[in-house]
Amino acid sequence: MTNVPEIFGSLVFNDDIMRAKLPKEIYKSLKETRERGTPLDETCAQSIANAMKNWAVENGATHYTHWFQPMTGATAEKHDSFIVPAGDNKVIMEFSGKELIKGEPDASSFPSGGLRATFEARGYTSWDPTSNAFIKDGTLCIPTAFCSYGGEALDKKTPLLRSMEALDKQALRILRLFGDTTTTSVRTTAGAEQEYFLIDRAVADQRKDLLYCGRTLFGARPPKGQELEDHYFGVIKPRVSAYMKDLDEELWKLGILSKTKHNEVAPAQHELAPIFTTTNIATDHNQLTMEVMKKVASRHGLTCLLHEKPFAGVNGSGKHNNWSLATNTGENLLEPGKYPAENMRFLLFLTAVIVAVDEHQDLLRLSVASASNDHRLGAQEAPPAIVSIYLGDELTGILQSIEDDSAYEELDPMFMDTGVESLPNFAKDTTDRNRTSPFAFTGNKFEFRMPGSSVSLSAPNFMLNTAVCDVLESFADELEQAQDFDHALRKLIKRNFQEHKRIVFNGNNYSEEWIQEAKRRGLLNLRSTADAIPCYISEKNIKLFEKHGVLSRAELVSRHEISLENYTKQLNVEAFTMIDMINKDILPAVYRFMHDLSETILNKKQISDTIVCEPEKSVLEKLSVLSSALYDNAHKLYSDLKERDYRYAVPNREENDWEAEGRYYRDIVFEQMEKTRAIADEIESMVGEDYWPYPTYGKLLFSVR
Ligand code: ADP
Ligand code: MG
Repeated sequence: MTNVPEIFGSLVFNDDIMRAKLPKEIYKSLKETRERGTPLDETCAQSIANAMKNWAVENGATHYTHWFQPMTGATAEKHDSFIVPAGDNKVIMEFSGKELIKGEPDASSFPSGGLRATFEARGYTSWDPTSNAFIKDGTLCIPTAFCSYGGEALDKKTPLLRSMEALDKQALRILRLFGDTTTTSVRTTAGAEQEYFLIDRAVADQRKDLLYCGRTLFGARPPKGQELEDHYFGVIKPRVSAYMKDLDEELWKLGILSKTKHNEVAPAQHELAPIFTTTNIATDHNQLTMEVMKKVASRHGLTCLLHEKPFAGVNGSGKHNNWSLATNTGENLLEPGKYPAENMRFLLFLTAVIVAVDEHQDLLRLSVASASNDHRLGAQEAPPAIVSIYLGDELTGILQSIEDDSAYEELDPMFMDTGVESLPNFAKDTTDRNRTSPFAFTGNKFEFRMPGSSVSLSAPNFMLNTAVCDVLESFADELEQAQDFDHALRKLIKRNFQEHKRIVFNGNNYSEEWIQEAKRRGLLNLRSTADAIPCYISEKNIKLFEKHGVLSRAELVSRHEISLENYTKQLNVEAFTMIDMINKDILPAVYRFMHDLSETILNKKQISDTIVCEPEKSVLEKLSVLSSALYDNAHKLYSDLKERDYRYAVPNREENDWEAEGRYYRDIVFEQMEKTRAIADEIESMVGEDYWPYPTYGKLLFSVR
């Protein structure tokens, strides 16, 4: 039996260990830094580095690395051993304060979007003392931010940290207005529900598309998908259960608060949710979780797919980002309490979120934009690309009554009555849930449901933080001037709800009517990634991010370029994979099948002229037509790509109009891929399984038993 409290955090240089291993004074100033963000005295670094190294070596580490999150969306690490020559063919293990604080990876190959020309390759990683160091595969990993020589952010962590600091400042101003003099910091919190697929590795390895793209580019519908709804919360199969146990243990050792696991809607789909923590640590932990998920899967002969849409026709995977604001004294600022109608502080923060989401719909959409997530948003399994807020009846009623200057009648507590006497009655939540909303209030936090399963949580959180920070600033500006605070506050909430309530929608977000209604309300509908990415460089957004010191114009321009480049390259890889599979595997398989069919017909004819060959002939005719259409479409796809071929030559950054590239890939390449796939899938449903070069959807989705 695993002793969970004992293994929890055993691979983490955490607070307990710091207190035990560091001199008192040093521990104190490090704690200040971690809790209040005060800069760390350089002399402390040496002592901390030494303690870290001793602890790491005691726990089997031989190397250290600055662990960072470049714009690829993955994590990066370069391992250096602790060894230092000590004469006479000997070494000792050392780690300096300088090495802890600053790293200089030769970083010319990370995407910088023109921020750092390759001949000026210097990039620095700098230690983030607010996120604990940990040991992974015998290496001490130090969470770091990654910036260019000029200090521009080249990573996902830097803007997130900046946004947290900016929001802290404004939220404290608001708290002071409510007479709170004790809170010293406000942090945003996040808990990410991570969905994933588990496929038998031997089966998955036979698919080039899964290997190169993480999703299937072909696949006819299997006889059974998710229609029986028998997988959601279903009994977990022994092999999956063993995987989940192992995964939990690995995560716990890394100090990750893995809490909930269950089967999801699609066959072979599952979910893991940790207990929430600050957005910075939640983001680090989620990156680590995704890595560990894949690693543990391969130990179990499984492949873990984190792509947003690995299989057409069944649900894809998301990563719900539950978000709130917490004070250092442990209060949740989005907790409505027993009497929300009287909880003015709560109503103010709630209104701030409503205004922020309405004013910056584009940013929330942008924060989840990727080629892979385009398959999911609006596919009746995830929210559409239209951003709106679900508040539920109670909160909508309260805000409405403020707008109407009417008294709000508190709802009586409702009790659950199952009609079975032996079952206990309990008080119900005052509102039901809404599973279709992209941004739903769920009791004491918002659940942002648009992020895809593979996305880094950095952007969803830093964009949300910045948007809310901006609104809090304007609220604080206004309220600090007020003579009568209570009166001014009511007026402010009233006016803002009036102006921004169009973003509140409590109905079914998957319906066609909502799309029409949203249009009437003037809400944005940025359907594809190519539509969303230009928002990086709108004047409104540049102003917003610069004002709060989260991203500069140059940094935004770089992100704009990196995202579009990434989008087009991803589609490029998929399109080339598709052509490769058609030419090398699918067409040859169809030809083989057709050859055998023709042989059968000829043989039959030799035996007798009157023998029936119509079925074979009919299949042969259909396949001849379809295979020639497949050949033509693959060829068309190839010529579409040739016009923009990145495969051999990376286009000149200066000259490239990335937005036009994005549109080309969306309108021409992607459309052509969809057409081509449809033909291949039809062919698959007609060709004998022995001939088909790849495991079918049925085999993939039901491979784990
Ligand atoms: P659901 O019913 O939405 O599937 P889960 O229990 O799967 O709920 O996930 C809820 C997530 O929300 C968990 O990760 C939980 O830790 C997180 N959460 C709860 N409270 C907060 C909060 N105040 N801030 C951020 N996240 C929170
Ligand atoms: Mg859940």
